[in-house]
Amino acid sequence: MTAVDRLSELIKMPTVSAYEPKDEDDEVFAAFPDRLAALYPAAHGAMERRLVGDRGVVYTWRGTDSHLEPILGLAHYDVVPPGEEEAWDRPPFSGEIADGRIHGRGSLDDKGMLAGWMEAVERLAARDFRPERTLVLAFGGDEETSGFRGAGSIASLFREEGRRFAFVLDEGGAVATEQLSAFTDKPVALIGCAEKGYLTLTLNASGMSGHASAPPKRSAVGRLSAALAALEANPAPSRLVDVPIGMLRALGHAVGGLKGFILTHPRLFRRVLLKNFAGTPSTASMIRTTLAPTVIRGGERDNVMPDKAVARINLRILPGETVESVTGRVRSIVASAVDGGVTVEHVEGSVFEPVPAGLSTGVYWDRLKNLAESIWPDVVVAPYLMTGTTDSRWYRDLSDSIFRFIPMEVGTEEMKCVHAPNESVSVKAWESAVEFLERLIGTGGSES
Ligand SMILES: [Zn+2]
Repeated sequence: MTAVDRLSELIKMPTVSAYEPKDEDDEVFAAFPDRLAALYPAAHGAMERRLVGDRGVVYTWRGTDSHLEPILGLAHYDVVPPGEEEAWDRPPFSGEIADGRIHGRGSLDDKGMLAGWMEAVERLAARDFRPERTLVLAFGGDEETSGFRGAGSIASLFREEGRRFAFVLDEGGAVATEQLSAFTDKPVALIGCAEKGYLTLTLNASGMSGHASAPPKRSAVGRLSAALAALEANPAPSRLVDVPIGMLRALGHAVGGLKGFILTHPRLFRRVLLKNFAGTPSTASMIRTTLAPTVIRGGERDNVMPDKAVARINLRILPGETVESVTGRVRSIVASAVDGGVTVEHVEGSVFEPVPAGLSTGVYWDRLKNLAESIWPDVVVAPYLMTGTTDSRWYRDLSDSIFRFIPMEVGTEEMKCVHAPNESVSVKAWESAVEFLERLIGTGGSES
């Protein structure tokens, strides 16, 4: 079996996570760790395995120098549902290898990285290599539903054991081949150094119930609509925070000239740069706390006015703000829009503070940067603000250096297939991820 076949085998397992436990296939989740062991016998033999709860797999490869803090490599083996199967060109869990690509749900997010870590260890172990620095691999099986059972449980265990890590590498930015073409023609390795917070709020509106033939002046549905409209009309202020500034500087050094001068002086050209960021939703999300109304529920019948209407809004919090400050802002906008009748509450299990910027300097940053530059000769390496969440946030207090990076070249169209139909990864891109991880482990994260 080739390396690519092994990844394909993992994709064939439909480890679809869901918020409702009854919607999950427990058997396939339970079978996953042993499938992994069977596919990577040398890696499994070289490392110690611990199963943590029902959604955590931890592998430890003991280094020869126990005084060195270990490296922590993260990945998740659950995937989001495939959605409408008809929208896929091939069945979502085919794992088919065709046209130089490996197809199926999870190929990019995030079984590609999980298989990358295992493959890298498999190759090193087969050569009788033994790392100097201990490597810990922690795989979660519920990242897509917040990670309480996987990464959450593993991180608690590590905390109880007093573990610390030299650095952590999780999924995150990729080697963007065209996404930053407005700035540079070169590929850009986006290494996530900070992560936005995550917050879901429920808006509960109340009003008079009654017959639709004699409606009161203020209804629950009307109140809720006014509150949502006011929130959309009053976006959070835009700001350039540390990590996007670092990204602009890195790009500026690469392009040079007038454009480079502007990019390397972000405070001087703040206005024009903010305007550029605001141009597309994905870049706009790097400069402000975003707010997305996602769920709305009101009445059931045409002729009956409900006394309650409920909406949920999902916010992604920019570093520098907090759950408390953002909630306060939402409450004050709602209060001035509807004067009473709408309450704003946190949704349990959906409250995560932003993870502030880690180091985009230092020995481990340099190691990732040098590795990237040796694999993709023309690449620009830049720090990146993660606008989505990753499992790494559970480990925030266990290391000073948390990086979120998928060492693969990914284009705009491929990126669109994450959490959408026709997810796939190019064999060439995935092979480079294996090479990256193999060399990272092989040199213990320090200079070679
Ligand atoms: Zn993921």
